[in-house]
Amino acid sequence: MDDGLRAWGFALARLATLVVVGAIVGLSFGHAVTGLALVLAGALAWNYFNLFRLDYWLRDRSTRDAPDSGGVWGDVITQVVRLHRRKRFHKQRLLDVFRELRHSTAAMPDGVVVLNVQSEIVWFNRMAGRLLNLKRRADLGIRITNLVREPDFVRYLQKGDFSDTLQLRRSTDELYLSFQVVPYGGNQRLMLVRDVTRQVALESMRKDFVANASHELRSPLTVITGYLETLDQDEDIEESLRGPLSEMRRQAERMNAIVHDLLELSRLDAKQDEVVGDPIDVGAMMSILRKDVLARPRHPSITLKVDSPGGILGEESEIQSAFSNLVDNAAKYTPPEGRVEVRWWVDDGGEGHFAVSDTGYGISAEHLPRLTERFYRVDSGRSRDTGGSGLGLAIVKHALQHHGASLQIESREGVGSSFTCHFPARRVFVGGRGGNIAVTRATDTGLN
Ligand code: ADP
Repeated sequence: MDDGLRAWGFALARLATLVVVGAIVGLSFGHAVTGLALVLAGALAWNYFNLFRLDYWLRDRSTRDAPDSGGVWGDVITQVVRLHRRKRFHKQRLLDVFRELRHSTAAMPDGVVVLNVQSEIVWFNRMAGRLLNLKRRADLGIRITNLVREPDFVRYLQKGDFSDTLQLRRSTDELYLSFQVVPYGGNQRLMLVRDVTRQVALESMRKDFVANASHELRSPLTVITGYLETLDQDEDIEESLRGPLSEMRRQAERMNAIVHDLLELSRLDAKQDEVVGDPIDVGAMMSILRKDVLARPRHPSITLKVDSPGGILGEESEIQSAFSNLVDNAAKYTPPEGRVEVRWWVDDGGEGHFAVSDTGYGISAEHLPRLTERFYRVDSGRSRDTGGSGLGLAIVKHALQHHGASLQIESREGVGSSFTCHFPARRVFVGGRGGNIAVTRATDTGLN
């Protein structure tokens, strides 16, 4: 039998015995009820006494020993002691984990700030204090935007979209900080602050190097291409040299294309902020792109669909570069018997979409996430044959980023591809009469 039940059995048996003994003794004096009452009063007093001892101990259980009682009371006290020990053990373990967590976050090379829903500082580690000039006591409970007042930071916190990190230069010195907010537990926010000055300096050195190297390569390449062109057209040149010469010319032109794209990328890289820009008539731009495709020696058929008048507010050279890269790719990677469709439309939410779809070679799914990386080519042989630099889609991505736009790529190998640029409504203007705007803008921007 269970120990607890056995103790209860004993207790009841003992009470019953006492009741019987009390009644017999009382009866021998001629007062059975008095004997019974005395025994029950004694039992009640004994229980009260034990209850009192338990209560007394519970009130100050950390300094006193548990009362030493037998029977049911002993069992109850043993269970309370066990519960108390278990609770103390878990509490201690929790405290240890918490202390360790605090020590490790305090020693982290990155700054950590815990913010509440009002963006008030709940806690921060040593590095966050150093990077953001926070004072341990004084700044707790203060709204972080009162202490870090950079407008970009304030906007970042207010926007509430923390999918991207924010990078900014501290106004007081040359330090570059990167902020990343991670929402947790409903309405708390964990903010990570990192000193990225070194990475920014390295990145800027890399960009400068690429820009300078491309720039330096341009002049000698122009000279080489010029001479090769002259030699290629020279009637007196030996027949056996004609093949190598035209190959040299083709390769020099490829190098020219790469240098051109590298310089274009460097130019786009140098600009961090979104461009303001002028109205661009997308319909007119599409007509020019179509002409470029038709001018190719071998090209697929191309159709234009302008579903909405108007166009984009942006920087024309960048948009032109992005769209022409997409249309150029569609023409390059679609056989002459295939079709390319270029479409512009504005949806009900006012967002603009420029899509280039083709029935070309297509791209298998594993390449899609890396397509906009620099020099990433799906089929380097084919890309080289078509004169691709591997930089086209990187240029598209950067140009779109400057306009707050995004690129969506859908493709199936052997079926075709579709590249769609999505422009936010603030970047779109819808002309009342499309034709009018097309004519005006085309003249304005010298597109005709
Ligand atoms: P490239 O100059 O080589 O064309 P891009 O950056 O423009 O470089 O494109 C990267 C790669 O993506 C290309 O090498 C090509 O393999 C693939 N690609 C781009 N557009 C298309 C398309 N419309 N159809 C099939 N493949 C494409």
